[in-house]
Amino acid sequence: MVKSCAEHKDRSSATMCHQCHKPICRSCTLVTPQGSFCSSECSLLRRESKGEMKRPRAGFVVQVAALFVLLVAGFVGIHLAAPKALKRFDLIGGVLERIKNVPSDSHR
Ligand SMILES: [Zn+2]
Ligand SMILES: [Zn+2]
Repeated sequence: MVKSCAEHKDRSSATMCHQCHKPICRSCTLVTPQGSFCSSECSLLRRESKGEMKRPRAGFVVQVAALFVLLVAGFVGIHLAAPKALKRFDLIGGVLERIKNVPSDSHR
């Protein structure tokens, strides 16, 4: 069954978005190592949901540690790299904000 592209009704879809399952034509398809997507937002969403599903409970501390290393690298990167990188680290920054808000016992 061939559906028409969600963006171009006159074109038949070549594939469908792995995230939102929208039929997309070849010119709309964004090919990433994670699969084909209709947009970069969908590829990002897919990467996040995939990471969440795969995350084992015991590995949570490792994940946080890895995230922290990533954050430090991110902050250094923000100062060094172009503003383009900022958008990417904005996501991580949101997570950091949450970590910051958790009261730690070092604060007396
Ligand atoms: Zn999509
Ligand atoms: Zn299209």
